[in-house]
Formats: sequence, structure tokens, C-alpha cells
Amino acid sequence: MLAKEEAKELVRKLLQEYPDAKPTLDYSNALELLVAAILAAQCTDERVNQVTKELFKKYRSPGDYAKAQQLALEKEVKSTGFFRQKAKAIREVCRGIAEEHGGEVPGTMEELTGLPGVGRKTANMVLGDAFGMPGLIVDTHVKRVSGRTGLTEESNPDKIEMDLQAVVPRKKWTLFSHAMMEHGRAICVARKPHCSRCPLRELCPYDGPSD
Ligand code: SF4
Repeated sequence: MLAKEEAKELVRKLLQEYPDAKPTLDYSNALELLVAAILAAQCTDERVNQVTKELFKKYRSPGDYAKAQQLALEKEVKSTGFFRQKAKAIREVCRGIAEEHGGEVPGTMEELTGLPGVGRKTANMVLGDAFGMPGLIVDTHVKRVSGRTGLTEESNPDKIEMDLQAVVPRKKWTLFSHAMMEHGRAICVARKPHCSRCPLRELCPYDGPSD
């Protein structure tokens, strides 16, 4: 694991390389982002965006999803994979919002993670991207890149989040998350990272297979 000052330097460099990193899921409000985040599990954001383009025209409130027929919703989200669980998760989370939060997506970590099936990753995404609050999102890319770069030695996402919070300035948490995702998609890819053209190479301790 990198020493704190080295870790902060690596974070600075990453933020410098990706100053405009943004979410790649399409949404126009917190509910749409929450639904898109559920659909994005084990699926590409591109595919999710294709599906939500139609879905968001039809379902406009948590009540609309809560009242949806399970089979109908399954059919509509089928191409994102794991469609039975995802349709069920969307209906349950929306029922929780409709019944316990007056139909408005809540804006705190505690309330969001109190909704059925919502973990810290999704909650941080909603807080950071929909509500403009600091949200450190530990998805598969952030997890992998954090490990390779020595920002953490943990494998549990909640513990990784705590390690990252210690070296990333709070107001940059959301930007940092998207910068890590962009870097993980473009350079520090899962199979064989492109270390030879990586801007973090001088600071990164990774010595596994690469090109
Ligand atoms: S040097 Fe290699 S392992 Fe380190 S961040 Fe860059 S691509 Fe990833």
C-alpha cells in the first residue's frame, strides 16, 4: 500500500488527467439514476442507456414502478441481464420510496441504504451524481484500480471506500470516482492493463502482467 503522501500524489495526478470525468449512465433525476444503477449491475452502461431511454418515458414516479406488473417490467429490462432480480429490486425500492418517503428519493446515506437492496455504492452514486454531495462510489473499476495503484489493500468495498476517503479531498470524491472509472475502462483495464501508456505509471506500484 502506498504511503499517504504518495497516495495523495497519485490522486492529484489522476484528477489532473481526468478533470471532466462524468457519469456514463443517462438520467435526469435521482429516481432515474437509482433505477439505472440497479440495471447497471453486471451490464454495460451503454446497454442500460438503451433500455432506460424507453423505460423512463413510461415510468415517471416511484409509484409507477411499484404498481408495475413484475412480468411486464421483467420484459422491459430483460436485455440488461438478471432481469427477474432487477425488476423485483426496482419495484421494491420504489415501493419503499413511495410508502416511506412520500414518493421522493431521500438524500442521505442513512435513508438511501435503508431502502431495500440499496448498498453504499448505489447510495453514493445517487448522493454524488443526483444530489451534488460528495459520494465515493466503489464500483468494479474503482475497486480494481485502487488495488493495483496501492491506494488500498482491502477487498471489501466499504473498507476500500474508507481507505480512499483518507487520501481523496472530500469535495473531489464524486469526480475522483468517475476519473477512476474512466481510467479503468480506458487504460487500467481488467485483463491486462496498458501500463506502457498510463499517465500514473511513475507513481503506480503494480508489477503484474501488462502491455
Ligand atoms: S500503471 Fe498500470 S496498473 Fe498502474 S494504474 Fe496505470 S495501467 Fe493501472
